Amino acid sequence: MNIFYAPPSQIHGDMAELLDQEAQHASKVMRMREGDRLIVVDGKGGRYEGPIRRITKKSVQIELEEHQQFDEPVPKIILGMGIIKKRDRLEFAIEKAVELGAWHVALFRSDHGIKENVRMDRLNAIAISAMKQSLHTYLPAISMHYSVEEVMDEFYDAYCLMAHEKADTDRSVRSISKDTKDKYLLLVGPEGGFSPEEVEKATVKGAKLVSLGPYRLRAETAALATMSQFVT
Ligand code: SAM
Repeated sequence: MNIFYAPPSQIHGDMAELLDQEAQHASKVMRMREGDRLIVVDGKGGRYEGPIRRITKKSVQIELEEHQQFDEPVPKIILGMGIIKKRDRLEFAIEKAVELGAWHVALFRSDHGIKENVRMDRLNAIAISAMKQSLHTYLPAISMHYSVEEVMDEFYDAYCLMAHEKADTDRSVRSISKDTKDKYLLLVGPEGGFSPEEVEKATVKGAKLVSLGPYRLRAETAALATMSQFVT
């Protein structure tokens, strides 16, 4: 059955309303009609099912006959990524991070990175699509930060691992994070890597340097390699 997204603000009692792209997709692309059944996820763990009751130019209204509420994922994984210059690579990384179950994606400007060149509307649309495609019910927030330090301050309560090419190869993600924590912040640098100052500041704040092996991975590969260690 087709899955659509409606945030909690579009769910009123036993009715959900699809708007904008989601409504267009249901009525114009999928050509769904009144009475057709579909699944709605609210991005906060709610999964609903029911028939379409009304289609207007701007919205599709669904009667919610079934409801399941899913628990928040454990551990919560926050992927902190330096902004990658190539937009398609950044978008790829975000799509795959959502599929792998990221709780939050925190993008940051970095010393060896580029000036901000990010379309948040596109990234959010990619995250919604990846959430639906991979049958997740929680939609990760995507946030933008001025520095890696700012990301660490924001997620001060997470156990922080910084992927660094010069980390000892014995220090794999698994070797460092054997004890289960409930929240991890995984930091990955942009194409140009982290500057020595960024590494110094992050380690002073408590980040543990981890290796992804002896070879240099592209930033988006490194992000997915780090995330994949937490897939259960
Ligand atoms: N020349 C850059 C440097 O010296 O850091 C290369 C950066 S690499 C393309 C982008 C990011 O991926 C790095 O900042 C790091 O976070 C991560 N990364 C790539 N390969 C890695 C490895 N073997 N171990 C740990 N992290 C790695």
